Amino acid sequence: MKGLFKTAPGPGNMEIRETPKPSPGPGQVMVKVEYTGICGSDLHIFHSDIAIPVRPPVITGHEFSGTIAELGEGVTGWKVGDRVTSETAVIRCDVCEFCRSGFYNVCPERRTLGYWVSGAFANYVVVPARNLHALPDSVSFLIGAMTEPTACCVHAVNELTDIRGGDVVAIIGPGSIGLICAQLARVEGAEVVVLGTSRDAERLKAAEKCGVRATIDVNAQDPVKELAALTRGRGPDVVIECSGAAAGTRLGLELVRRRGQFTQVGLFGKQIELDFERICYKELKVTGSIGSIWSAWNKALHFMERGLIDLSFLATDILPLTEWQEGFRRFEAKEGLKIFLRPVAEDGDGDADGDGAGAGV
Ligand SMILES: [Zn+2]
Ligand SMILES: [Zn+2]
Repeated sequence: MKGLFKTAPGPGNMEIRETPKPSPGPGQVMVKVEYTGICGSDLHIFHSDIAIPVRPPVITGHEFSGTIAELGEGVTGWKVGDRVTSETAVIRCDVCEFCRSGFYNVCPERRTLGYWVSGAFANYVVVPARNLHALPDSVSFLIGAMTEPTACCVHAVNELTDIRGGDVVAIIGPGSIGLICAQLARVEGAEVVVLGTSRDAERLKAAEKCGVRATIDVNAQDPVKELAALTRGRGPDVVIECSGAAAGTRLGLELVRRRGQFTQVGLFGKQIELDFERICYKELKVTGSIGSIWSAWNKALHFMERGLIDLSFLATDILPLTEWQEGFRRFEAKEGLKIFLRPVAEDGDGDADGDGAGAGV
């Protein structure tokens, strides 16, 4: 089979390689991959500027959907042909305080699919059965491949941030993560304002499909003034920073109301400079968010199944795995929203049964 490998540490060093089809060990399953989304962190792996441990040579890719093709020894509750997606925390210690309390996303021993253990930019991927989630019948493979980013957003927005009905929530960064967070804040009853730059013009237009109250182009409009006008002069109750740019975080700390909440979702990939003291003077509640936990996956799939959020318009581009360079280029150029790579299986049926939403190529 083919896999998109990070071949060695350092910037670049990614290529498609032929590699033997993996086989599932005890407690594991092998999944035939349908779609794998390109994540911002895949770009960070490409550029080697991410703090999450990477162990090359490793097949990358962690946002995927597929069908179970083979069960390892001792796996119960699943069968060949089940439509699934999988959590990415494939190695964790199970005995630390965080694992025992369900927050294995911050287990010090956590190792991640597509970083440390071979991932899903491939025809087949092996994952522990305990990491699986069944895709509801109403959730297509294409939409199902967005469960992972959605679960990360659910963890940040619905689990870690205390949003009250009627709150004004400002989302900074209208990429796919920002637009998922916008919808999740709406599920909590918030009024949502999405902010981006002039480069994000198309994405801000897409944000209007999320039922937001307003979008703001920070290059063309004064965000402080605009948000003051929308909030009786107070500023937003909550800011969720999804751009991973220092300017976005600085703006968010400036915008958020006194005694408001600020949640950092975007990763910078480097140290940044900020006026951290502002957190004291405004008495802000600030939190970070990394990855996701079981409850967030369960809630994400519930929201998807019930139609409480709409991910279909995010799936803009589908490319064959072999055209990963074009996919990464589009991501970096901010073309499209969510870009998927699709392996063409060796039996040739890899892309013949497409359930794609008519998106992209
Ligand atoms: Zn991701
Ligand atoms: Zn642990």
